[in-house]
Amino acid sequence: MSTIPDITIIGGGIMGLLTARACRLAGAKVTILEQNQIGRESSWAGGGILLPIYPWRHHDAVSKLVIQSLTLYPSLIASIQQSSQIDPEFIQSGMLICKNPDYNDALSWCDTYAIRHTPASSELLNKFTTDYDQPLWLPDIYQARNPRLLKSVYADLVQLGVEFIADSELKSLHISNQRVHAITTSTGDYPIGQIVLTTGSWTGRLWQQLFADQQSTQPKINPVKGQMLLFEAQPDTLDTMVLDDAHYLIPRRDGKILAGSTVEQADFDKSTDPETKAHLTHFAHQLLPALQQFPIIAHWAGLRPGTEQGIPYIAKHPELKNLSINAGHFRNGLTLAPASAELLTDLLFDRPPKLDPTPYQFNAPH
Ligand SMILES: Cc1cc2nc3c(=O)[nH]c(=O)nc-3n(C[C@H](O)[C@H](O)[C@H](O)COP(=O)(O)OP(=O)(O)OC[C@H]3O[C@@H](n4cnc5c(N)ncnc54)[C@H](O)[C@@H]3O)c2cc1C
Repeated sequence: MSTIPDITIIGGGIMGLLTARACRLAGAKVTILEQNQIGRESSWAGGGILLPIYPWRHHDAVSKLVIQSLTLYPSLIASIQQSSQIDPEFIQSGMLICKNPDYNDALSWCDTYAIRHTPASSELLNKFTTDYDQPLWLPDIYQARNPRLLKSVYADLVQLGVEFIADSELKSLHISNQRVHAITTSTGDYPIGQIVLTTGSWTGRLWQQLFADQQSTQPKINPVKGQMLLFEAQPDTLDTMVLDDAHYLIPRRDGKILAGSTVEQADFDKSTDPETKAHLTHFAHQLLPALQQFPIIAHWAGLRPGTEQGIPYIAKHPELKNLSINAGHFRNGLTLAPASAELLTDLLFDRPPKLDPTPYQFNAPH
C-alpha cells in the first residue's frame, strides 16, 4: 500500500495549481478544491511580469524565491505548453526601469543575482516621454500572459490526473489528535490525508473562521486591491515592459497593452472606479503618447495576498501534523510560484529543501 498520503489543496490560483503539480509529480494523488472557478482570482488579474518591481527593495527571502523560480520557469513552461497545447506567452520582453534613485542598490542586486543589466539605448529611451533618472535596462526579464498560463497549467494538471472540485468553499476542519481528519465544504464533507491552504488573499480571514482559538499562529495575510487597464493597441506599438515610478506598461504578443496598477486597502472589494481609470489612462498616455489613439477595452481589479514585507508563508503548521500553507505572495505570486511550490513539496515529502525554509515559517517576520 502507498505511504504517500492523498493531498487536498484548498485554492485554485497559481499557487494551488503549481503546488498540486509538484505534489502529483512526486507521486501523490491530488485534489484541488476552489470556491469559484479555477484560476480566476489574483492569478488571473495580474500583470505577469516575472520579476518583482524594484527587486532590490525587497527582503532577501523574496529574492531567493525569485531566482529559484526564474531557474524553474523555462522547463515548466516547455512542459505545460507541450502537454496542454496552450501557449502561456512566456516572452523575454525585457524591462526598462525609468527612474532609479537607488541605482547603486539596483546594480548591486543585479550583480549578486546575475541579472544582466545594460545601459538603455537612446532608441529605447526615445520611445517614452518621462524624466529619466538613471534608467536601467534589464534585457532578460520575461513575462507570462496570466489567463493563458493558468489555462495551460490547468489543462496539464487534468492530464496528470489531478482532480478538481470547483464552486466549493472550505467551511470548517474536523480535528482530533492534532490532525485534520475531514473538511466540511459548501458541497459536502471530504476525508483528508494532507491539507494545504493556497487560499491567497482569503487566508487570514479563513484562518479566523477555521481556528477561532488559534489567533497566535494566524498568518497575517490581507487583501490589497490592484486595478489594471487594457489598451487595444496595434502590434509594434510597444515591445518591452516599462516601469516608470509606481506604474508600468506591459505589451502582449497580439499588441494589447496593460497599464497598471494601483495598491489599495479596500478589504475584499474588487470594484473599479472612474478616478482610477482616469489616473492610469493619464499615466499611459503621458509615458507612451502613441497609446492615445487606441481604445481601452478592459478595466479590472484583483486582490493581492498582502503581507507586510511581501514574504510568503510556505510552511507546515507548527502543531497540526497534516496542515500546511503556501500563501501571502503579495505583488509577486506569479514570479514566486514555481519555487514556492517546490519548497512546500520538499517539506511535505521530507526531501532536502533547495532553499532554506526558515524565513517562510509561521513564526518568522513576514
Ligand atoms: C493587479 C495585479 C497585478 C499583479 N501583477 C503581478 C505581476 O506582474 N507579477 C507577479 O509575479 N505577480 C503579480 N501580481 C500578484 C499575483 O497575481 C499574486 O501574488 C498571485 O496571483 C497569488 O496567487 P494565489 O494562488 O496565492 O492567489 P489567487 O490566485 O487569488 O488564488 C487563491 C484562490 O483561493 C480560493 N479560495 C480562497 N478561499 C477559499 C475557500 N475557503 N475555499 C475554496 N477556495 C478558496 C480563491 O477563490 C482563489 O481562487 C499581481 C496581482 C494583481 C492583483
